Amino acid sequence: MQDVVNAPRLYCGFAAIRESADAVTHLITTLGPKGSDDLGMILPHEHVFVDLRTWDQPGYGQADPADVIRLMTPYIDAVKSAGITAIVEPGPIGVGRRADILLAVSQATDFPLVAPTGVYREPWLPPWVHDAAEDALCDWMIGELTGEIEGTGVQAGWIKVGATDTGMTRVEQKVLRAAARASVATGATIGSHTVRGEVARAQLDLIESTGGDARRFVWIHAHTEPDVAIHHELARRGAWLEYDGIGEPADDARFIDLIRRGLDAGFGEQLLISMDRGWYDPAKPGGGVPRPFTYLPETFLPQLAAAGIEDATIRMLTRRNPFVAFAR
Ligand SMILES: [Zn+2]
Repeated sequence: MQDVVNAPRLYCGFAAIRESADAVTHLITTLGPKGSDDLGMILPHEHVFVDLRTWDQPGYGQADPADVIRLMTPYIDAVKSAGITAIVEPGPIGVGRRADILLAVSQATDFPLVAPTGVYREPWLPPWVHDAAEDALCDWMIGELTGEIEGTGVQAGWIKVGATDTGMTRVEQKVLRAAARASVATGATIGSHTVRGEVARAQLDLIESTGGDARRFVWIHAHTEPDVAIHHELARRGAWLEYDGIGEPADDARFIDLIRRGLDAGFGEQLLISMDRGWYDPAKPGGGVPRPFTYLPETFLPQLAAAGIEDATIRMLTRRNPFVAFAR
């Protein structure tokens, strides 16, 4: 079990936070809380630092922050120039989370990132996650959401989890129950790496049966489920649909179609769009060659406009939605 640096101000089981409709919310970033007036376009799913090896591999998650700054600064400068004002970073425990590195990159580039608490899916889960009781996981998440991550001074903005493609394992179910309770206690959103609709449906069932709120659930990688009826079924229950595989010209028509169908079905205020790109990879020499963050603002959005999507709708998709999804 990792140390909880600050004693949580809230505790697992606390269920008194209910936002009123006009509550002022903030996106909790590496550079502090940001209100909607502080921000413009936000990318809800891009990576700065990821290690997809498992925790037991030599060198896992290790890098000199100066090297990450050197590699990633041009990519962040470019996306800033393209009008993006913040990125939600979706790398939790299990894929080499380094909040200290995210903070260093943010400070070097004056660019806010939204760091997660939470853990990825099997087989990336370290032994302490297997061993931890649900209550302890919940308290750990609340500690990071209300205090800081591993003594870095970085407060977690949201909760990232994952599910095995064919269905949640027992440990993944334990993690999601803990996440649902931490979400209720803090108002934080849960986002899950989930590729199949029936698995996302089971996750939403579990969240609701634990007292959680579907409107605080982001189905990450929803576009990988070919049955759009399931997308809309879960959106009808309140969940966010994240179409985050944008970036290949050959796929643009499909993403424009998914967005249009979501809008036509009345779920425009629950759609998120991103590229799932980046990143510094410690498994590769020099961190490898990141994929740039600029395709969506520079190439995809003009195509969306050319396809007849109104400016006000594009503003909703790129500004309002990612803020509302992850702010609390
Ligand atoms: Zn990702």
